[in-house]
Amino acid sequence: MKIMAQMAMVMNLDKCIGCHTCSVTCKQAWTNRAGTEYVWFNNVETRPGLGYPRTYEDQEEWKGGWTLGKNGKLQLKAGGRLKKLANIFSNPKMPSIDDYYEPWTYDYETLLTSPATKNFPVARPKSLLTGKDMNVRWSANWDDDLGGSKEIAVKDPMLKGIEDKVKFEFEQTFMFYLPRICEHCLNPSCAASCPSGAIYKREEDGIVLVDQDRCRGWRMCVSGCPYKKVYFNHKTGKAEKCTFCYPRVEVGIPTVCAETCVGRLRYIGLMLYDADRVLEAASVENDHDLYEAQRSVFLDPNDPEIARAAEEAGIPGDWVEAAKKSPVRRLIQDYKVALPLHPEYRTMPMVWYIPPLSPVVDVIKETGHDGEDKNNLFAAIDTLRIPVEYLANLFTAGDVGPINDVLRKLAAMRSFMRDINLGGDPDESIAEAVG
Ligand code: SF4
Ligand code: SF4
Repeated sequence: MKIMAQMAMVMNLDKCIGCHTCSVTCKQAWTNRAGTEYVWFNNVETRPGLGYPRTYEDQEEWKGGWTLGKNGKLQLKAGGRLKKLANIFSNPKMPSIDDYYEPWTYDYETLLTSPATKNFPVARPKSLLTGKDMNVRWSANWDDDLGGSKEIAVKDPMLKGIEDKVKFEFEQTFMFYLPRICEHCLNPSCAASCPSGAIYKREEDGIVLVDQDRCRGWRMCVSGCPYKKVYFNHKTGKAEKCTFCYPRVEVGIPTVCAETCVGRLRYIGLMLYDADRVLEAASVENDHDLYEAQRSVFLDPNDPEIARAAEEAGIPGDWVEAAKKSPVRRLIQDYKVALPLHPEYRTMPMVWYIPPLSPVVDVIKETGHDGEDKNNLFAAIDTLRIPVEYLANLFTAGDVGPINDVLRKLAAMRSFMRDINLGGDPDESIAEAVG
């Protein structure tokens, strides 16, 4: 057993209001520079929607020359030697600037000097790359304005297989937000794909970084990361990515995105895990088993044996104490309400999510009760506004079982707290029923 510590994050999606404060403050702190205009270490996606860069989840489209094999290791995609060689040199399927968006500002000069007219003057978008006026056709969160309507939603790869269930009439559409940073994976394919060895995972806390001196700008990491969370700085010719705000974390303050989050939905903390079991867990045969497999590599610091072994492995005692109290560990390990994003990518991501508990449409219509009513708790989950299959496609490789378990727990917790807040006696049997 090789015990290691990992910084991790859990985000509670029910609390995200899509305000983008996290994206803007992150940008101000880290990528407010020439060459990184289009770069968002933190972005917030509209769901359903195409994401950023668009359709990055369509792995058949974007995997390019790389694939994570069933042995959990990154490999060149199947094909003859010549095809593999061609893949190395051509680095195919890189997202283009159109797939991110062409960054723009507004022509404030014209706006401010415009003569008085009957109508308000309009600030025209101007490209930050060419300085020319733009006819904007796509950008991150374009999906917001379409409100989940058919035009954009049918292209969301996560809707595959449930098109019939989601009819895209406005009464039935759904929408929520998915904030994303680099996953600081336990099995990072960005590092595995880098020919220069420039991407590394820090021994002490698992944060994945790019050594700017060693990066040669191959951009294999951009192709190799299934989450598309490495970016190319077109001024320096080097790759850049989210650093989990390591200079802040090292002095005991949270990441910028977590500190400024309006919804207070980001939890940060340490996890202990067995590094010897990572590849084994990443290579389980069935995609549906990946969520449980990843959970199985985490170790419980409250176990005195583990705590002692961790200190013997060089993890400081106060870090072990921090792991015991870590809210991230409690949400993942104890309460089991947080789930990994796309475990089927097999990189063992370390930013996990509490899925959104949306209103229970049918129950509200028929009885006037919502899904948090304890009498409806167990019947209700099948009639959520957000299809459980959609959430399963995001968080459990399509397995609805763990999603249902989490949603029942969340509904139970709300019902329990509602009883308390209304001055009644909480029904202990509810908590027992959902474990
Ligand atoms: Fe690397 Fe991508 Fe994982 Fe981040 S999300 S550690 S960039 S593979
Ligand atoms: Fe969501 Fe928080 Fe970001 Fe606002 S700041 S978009 S609430 S994650």
